[in-house]
Amino acid sequence: MVSPGTLRLLANLADGRIDECVPRIEAETGAVSHPAAAETLDTGDGPPTEVLESLARRDLLARAFEEKLYYCPDCAGEELTYTTACPSCNSPHTVETELLEHADCGRVELHAAFETEGEYGEYVCPGCEEALPSFDINTSSYRRYVCRDCDERVERPAHRLRCRECARVVTPRRAIERVCCRYSLDDVGKVWVETQLRAREATVEALEAKGFEVTIDTTVTGPAGDERPIHVYAEDDLLGDRVVAAIHEWPDVDAVSALRTAAQGSDARPLLVTTSGSIGAEAASLAADSDVALLRLTEDDTLERDHQTGGRPSERTTFLQRLTFAVRGT
Ligand SMILES: [Zn+2]
Ligand SMILES: [Zn+2]
Ligand SMILES: [Zn+2]
Repeated sequence: MVSPGTLRLLANLADGRIDECVPRIEAETGAVSHPAAAETLDTGDGPPTEVLESLARRDLLARAFEEKLYYCPDCAGEELTYTTACPSCNSPHTVETELLEHADCGRVELHAAFETEGEYGEYVCPGCEEALPSFDINTSSYRRYVCRDCDERVERPAHRLRCRECARVVTPRRAIERVCCRYSLDDVGKVWVETQLRAREATVEALEAKGFEVTIDTTVTGPAGDERPIHVYAEDDLLGDRVVAAIHEWPDVDAVSALRTAAQGSDARPLLVTTSGSIGAEAASLAADSDVALLRLTEDDTLERDHQTGGRPSERTTFLQRLTFAVRGT
């Protein structure tokens, strides 16, 4: 099932009004948005990025990796910079430093700690206070990263990310990772949306043939006074007759329920058109209880009353169906 807003988005991608849905990353906040989708979808459709992602999961949209973004787990700030840090206290203030070890007593200290202010320029071990003629005698030198905050000494500092907003230093694993993608209509999606649009067109033609004035992709007022997007609205002023119609591949309970609510609010008759000719058992019984007229799109783009009750079309069936449409379309 797709909402009128989602169908509008797919139709715009199919006819080139939208080339592809490119993410925009706000320089200030790092928030990711999809402006083309946001402008096209209705508010009730939910967050645009989630809509695009769910269409990609249904293989209607192709996903292309754009980039990965990392956010601070504490303040959600987006500016994380790489830093090396002390593995013990996380302080980035670790500095590669030369250390000396006095062979006789084993004391290890910074180079500077061995220097004294003695007039003869002597060096003294800060541990055993033995005077050393030079650094080279009885000491060995090596380099370590020394933490200036907790004095931890390590061969290699740890890899960390530092948040520029809250200054917190975190392990890369703790950072929140978001994959950012661009979305375009693929061939399967193109065939799919063309089928949905043909079903909508067949619905419009059938209603116009009965003398209705028909509007597509519009809204009606729901029972609570809210605006409800619908695929087709038809009105016969003379007879005071109204129809709201929804187009779905395989209507589920939510689709039937949304149609029923829209019909109630506008005092119209609900009409449900499927492109698969199949409807879930639960949705079928809700449709029967709510006096929803059920029609299906036939292969020659007309509408007829004939439905199977069954599960969501399997990947394979759906694929073959699309293939049939694809072959027919060439
Ligand atoms: Zn430290
Ligand atoms: Zn010593
Ligand atoms: Zn932060």
